Amino acid sequence: MASMDPSSMFSLKGRTALVAGASRGIGLAIAKAMATQGAHVVLAARSIGVLEPEAEELRRSGLSAEATRLDVTRGEAIDEVGKAYSQVDILINVAGTNVRRRFQDYTPEEYDRIMQTNLHGLVRLTRLVGASMVERGNGGKIVNIGSLMSLLGLPYLSVYAMTKSALAGLTRVLAAEWADADIQVNCIAPGFILTDLNRDMWQPDFMKRWLGTVQANPRLGTPEDIAGLAVFLASSAADYITGQVIAADGGYTTTAKWPFEPAS
Ligand code: NDP
Repeated sequence: MASMDPSSMFSLKGRTALVAGASRGIGLAIAKAMATQGAHVVLAARSIGVLEPEAEELRRSGLSAEATRLDVTRGEAIDEVGKAYSQVDILINVAGTNVRRRFQDYTPEEYDRIMQTNLHGLVRLTRLVGASMVERGNGGKIVNIGSLMSLLGLPYLSVYAMTKSALAGLTRVLAAEWADADIQVNCIAPGFILTDLNRDMWQPDFMKRWLGTVQANPRLGTPEDIAGLAVFLASSAADYITGQVIAADGGYTTTAKWPFEPAS
């Protein structure tokens, strides 16, 4: 990666970023933020009808972006994208899905879909893109989107937690394995971010009230709350950071609230 110049250490100018899972929510916010910092951004997901206009809008604002169809549950589709974008400097693995159930109630189909979307497809893409980065010898950045479930356990998220914990483990190993190729690999653990993935769950007032009682910052997060960290980790400002799982969670994993008040 480029040597550290304070005036450009957060810039992504001259880099190509592939965002896998960029059609909405966290991935779209990351794609927009990366384009704004000067990267050429490839927005990838299944919803090409959404990706094309998003990329077009970025281009109309003078930024650099293109869209490509990618279904991470389809091996050949992943291989095609991996080959077509072998010049990628930054890979952001965002694609994810979830089904909340008691562990004993998951169907085999649900299990396979979550595993394939959140883990196996992204692993296949990372093998291809990472191999190209190693071969080209210009270094690179890989950012995996994990979850609080990479770090702790909440009920009814067993299969999701298995995929997100696996991504955290892969992050640490690849950070070591590809270090000599100057590739930094990190994982973001977003907290409770309001998106299509969980909108229904956060509908009831009791859920929002609960969050206010347990989290330092009592509000739900937004996709933009995650985008800045992704840009940072993809920039040369983060060249000395690798193998980390970093929570952006309003303090959920690091703080607790209690009713105690000191006497004045
Ligand atoms: P959204 O449902 O808003 O976005 C999911 C993204 O993943 C979409 O762009 C979707 O695109 C893409 N995606 C889903 N399935 C596939 C597939 N088979 N192939 C390619 N792309 C796919 O969810 P979020 O933005 O909330 O989630 C993004 C990531 O962040 C996920 O990995 C999620 O686990 C993680 N996360 C989210 C948290 C939250 O609170 N929201 C908390 C912690 C982690 P399309 O449907 O067009 O294919």
